[in-house]
Amino acid sequence: EDIRLLEELDKKHFLHPTSSIQQQQDEGPAFIFKEGRGIYLEDVKGNIVIDGMSSLWNVNVGHGREELGEVAKAQMTKLAYTSSFATFSNEPAIRLSAKLAELAPGDLCATFFTSGGSEANDTAYKLARHYWILKGEPERKKIISRTKSYHGVSMGATSATGLKPFRDFTSSLAPDFFHVDHHDPVALRDLIEAEGPETIAAFITEPVQGAGGVHIAQANYFKEVKAICDMYGILFITDEVITGFGRTGKWFGIEHNGITPDMMCFAKGVTSGYAQLGGVMLSKELHDDFKKLSTGPLLHGYTYSGHAMACAVALKNIELIEKENLVENAKLKGGGLVEGLHWLQENKKMVSKVRGLGLMAAIELSDENLKKVQIPISSSIVNEAAKRGLICRSVTFDGQDTIVLAPPLIIKKEEIEKVVLLLHDAIDVVERKK
Ligand code: PLP
Repeated sequence: EDIRLLEELDKKHFLHPTSSIQQQQDEGPAFIFKEGRGIYLEDVKGNIVIDGMSSLWNVNVGHGREELGEVAKAQMTKLAYTSSFATFSNEPAIRLSAKLAELAPGDLCATFFTSGGSEANDTAYKLARHYWILKGEPERKKIISRTKSYHGVSMGATSATGLKPFRDFTSSLAPDFFHVDHHDPVALRDLIEAEGPETIAAFITEPVQGAGGVHIAQANYFKEVKAICDMYGILFITDEVITGFGRTGKWFGIEHNGITPDMMCFAKGVTSGYAQLGGVMLSKELHDDFKKLSTGPLLHGYTYSGHAMACAVALKNIELIEKENLVENAKLKGGGLVEGLHWLQENKKMVSKVRGLGLMAAIELSDENLKKVQIPISSSIVNEAAKRGLICRSVTFDGQDTIVLAPPLIIKKEEIEKVVLLLHDAIDVVERKK
């Protein structure tokens, strides 16, 4: 009875992000989760599933971590929140900004806090443009991002997002955002030349494109685009919202490429989703320039910038990642996952490609007969997998038919095997239905 009531209330009152509203009205929620332990989630009906996406790529340390609950409670009851504007500060935010400076690549050293990734990206665009105003080049305002990118849903972040359906969702976008082919450095150079380098503020990129379907750049891509940005004096910003905090087998995804950004955006894994937090880090050079050139106040800030409880949770979360060697575990288990997916590819002819870095992985599906059906095969497989106890995600942008996986970084070897077998069985069922 209670469950039925929850389902009815959900249909009536809860507008879900990315839901198909029609489907929600017909079917209601597929899962009403009530509890999480490690890599597992349990719903109100008692179904237990593996959270193969770390929910939204973010629950890096797994669900139900007592340590994070305890630190949240202690900070909540001591000082949950106070302003961090202007001259006000608090200890967790100070300690977290110092810890981030220690962990982050290169000389990234100063953090501006937000509540999430979209705000972090919008902050980066504004800080980049403000930087150029301070430098006496206010015409540098264009932001370049890549096709297949996802940067969030605030106005700036939507405008930067390369995945067209997100931009088409709204009728008007922020001006001065440009997109460039996601794997071609020459296209970037041509665009800069065509627009005029003196009009470009920054280039932003995910180190591995997540929501777009786990696309890993070719070797040297980032070195080349960084060199192009340097040549034209354009700021290089990385969006590490998914790839930060161990996901790819390094603390930050860009570390695979031997370059360091001028700014770095983060969110998600910084708290493993236990609190809402994001931010932008600035390189020492940029920070020094801001200190030298700023004459007025930094007129950008969110009520929850530097939220004390969220920062305390982030510190403890980072401590868990360090203590439990989760960055290394992501690398090792990620290798196992990709191996398992290659085994799937050998055994299932509809799996045409495998991609992965750390615990971000994808399989691409291509079966010409199956492509004729109305529902993408990846969606059918994802639905079958969910019924069997595995949550994974279907990505169908740009004509892709892809399934992505990003399990918590605490995952064990036998659990990786279970993930691969569940996916195998789901593919099997869909294959037999054809
Ligand atoms: N950037 C990237 C790479 C993301 O994957 C996301 C969210 O998935 C965002 C930004 C937006 O973050 P948020 O949803 O916290 O605003």
